Amino acid sequence: MKTATISSNLHYQYCSVRNRIWVEKHIHNLLRAVGTPYNMDNAGKYIHLFLLLFFFLLQGKAALMAQDFERLRNDMVERQLKNRDIRSKVVLDAMRTVPRHLFVPQDMLRYAYQDSPLPIGLEQTISQPYMVAFMTEQLKPVRGMKILEIGTGSGYQAAILAYIGCEVYTIELLGELAQRAEKVIRELRFSNVYIRNGNGYAGWPDEAPFDAIIVTAAPDKIPQALIEQLKDGGKMIVPVGPVHDVQSLKLITKKGTKITTEDLMFVRFVPMIE
Ligand code: SAH
Repeated sequence: MKTATISSNLHYQYCSVRNRIWVEKHIHNLLRAVGTPYNMDNAGKYIHLFLLLFFFLLQGKAALMAQDFERLRNDMVERQLKNRDIRSKVVLDAMRTVPRHLFVPQDMLRYAYQDSPLPIGLEQTISQPYMVAFMTEQLKPVRGMKILEIGTGSGYQAAILAYIGCEVYTIELLGELAQRAEKVIRELRFSNVYIRNGNGYAGWPDEAPFDAIIVTAAPDKIPQALIEQLKDGGKMIVPVGPVHDVQSLKLITKKGTKITTEDLMFVRFVPMIE
C-alpha cells in the first residue's frame, strides 16, 4: 500500500460522502440566509449557518490532529529509530506512515508515539516503536515475502509488514484483541493481512512454509512447530526466556537441516501462553 492510499483512507474517515452532501445542503441554505435580516421567519436559516460553522470547526480540528500525529511520527523516526541505527529505508518509511495512534486505546492516544510499549487491555501491550522497527529490520522484509506473526495484539506490527508489501499471516490467542486488530486493519484497507484467533504454538500449517516468522510474545523455549514451518533459508525472530523476566531476543536461520541461533539483545515481552 502506498503513502497516498493511506492518507486518502484517513481523509475518507474525516470527510465521507454523507458529510459532503450535508455541507452542500447547508451552503445552499447559507446563501439564502446571507443578506436576510434576522427575524423569527428566517431563524432556521441562521441555525443552518451555525451548524455549518460548527462543522468546519470540527473538520479543522480533525485536520490539525492528523497533522500533529504526522509530526509526532516524524519525530519518532528521527529520534527513536535513526538515532539508534535503524537504517532500512522500507522500515523507516513504514514507521513514518502507518498511523500508530489508531492501534492504541483512546486513553493512550497522547502517548502513542512515545518511546515505550503501551497497554492495550487484557494485560497485553503494543511494543515500543524501536522494538517493532528493530525486529522488522532483522527479517529484511521485501514486497511479496510471506510472513507469520505470533501475537497480533493491536495489529500494529502486522500493519508495518503489510505496508512494506509482505503477505502477513498473524495469530492472536485472545479473541477480543484479534477482533479489534481486524477492525483497524480493515479501516486502513490492508488486504494482505490474514488474522486468526488461536494458539500460536501450532503455527499456521495450512499456509506454511513461511519466508520469515516474527514472534512478539515470549515462549520459554523455541516452539518446534514454528521452526518446521520456516522455509529453507528463512529467518525467525523470537524473544525466548522465563515469564515476566528478562528474555533473549534470538534470530534463528534455517539452512537445510542446520539451524543457527544468534542472540541479539536482552528484552522484556509479555509471555507466550501455552
Ligand atoms: N505484535 C503486537 C504486540 C504483541 S503483545 C502489536 O504489534 O501490538 C503479545 C500478544 O501475544 C498478546 O496480544 C497476547 O495475547 C498474544 N499471545 C500470547 N500468547 C499467545 C499464543 N500462544 N498464541 C498467540 N498469541 C499469543
